[in-house]
Amino acid sequence: ELPTIYVITPTYPRPEQIPELTRLAQTLMNVPNIYWLVTDDTDTPNQDLIDYLTFTNIPHTYLITPMPPEYSGHKVKPKGVANRNAGMEWLRQHASKGVVYFADDDNTYDIRLFQEMRYTEKVSMWPVGLVSKEGLSTPVVSEGKFQGWFDGWIGGRTFPVDMAGFAVSVQYLLGVPNAAMPYKPGHEEDGFLRSLHISPNDIEFKAEQCTKLYVWHTQTKKSRHQPNIIFKKKYDNTNI
Ligand code: UDP
Ligand code: MN
Repeated sequence: ELPTIYVITPTYPRPEQIPELTRLAQTLMNVPNIYWLVTDDTDTPNQDLIDYLTFTNIPHTYLITPMPPEYSGHKVKPKGVANRNAGMEWLRQHASKGVVYFADDDNTYDIRLFQEMRYTEKVSMWPVGLVSKEGLSTPVVSEGKFQGWFDGWIGGRTFPVDMAGFAVSVQYLLGVPNAAMPYKPGHEEDGFLRSLHISPNDIEFKAEQCTKLYVWHTQTKKSRHQPNIIFKKKYDNTNI
């Protein structure tokens, strides 16, 4: 029996939400033994999304996880933090083993990535493409040994890695009751990994010693469409 991968996906309402989740869902439909936690930054359940998740047949739970109001007014927001922490709370209640991975709704994932992370013992890492000005974020590995970090922005971080670049054993996470993601833009990954009490020597390097790219931090251009302009009388009794 393959270990279950719990994929926690933060998402939020906007015109791109269903398109992004369609792309991610149809990747996950090609991966065995996945449990998908779709955590929505909203106060209002999205019935279209709930129906779409049912259509995919992927075992899943949909959680309503709004950003606390004290952060939602900030110019630089802690995006997806409430969602991921709520997903981890759910795991603490419902899971006992397997692997947890934070998959943002807009990235691009090769299905081989999930094969790489499935047997994570503590924390595993691999390269992520299209991150920062260097276009790549990865541990530096030589002859199987950790040498340091490659990332366009080190920013004083102990673990200068992208959210898409690591997975954690559920058993290990549950053994660290206070592990959580901080509401600190730019430092979410570092704060979380430090809260796990690991050192760089604990990291399992995947994707052929971090030589393969199986995930990219792609970003979607904001849609310009304005739904209200279609509510015109001349479209009454049409498909519009
Ligand atoms: N997100 C969220 N609430 C927000 C903004 C973003 O839950 O107000 C989610 C988003 O769906 C994504 C993750 O948080 O899964 C990271 O956001 P985004 O992709 O916009 O960040 P970027 O890639 O630009 O750093
Ligand atoms: Mn993104």
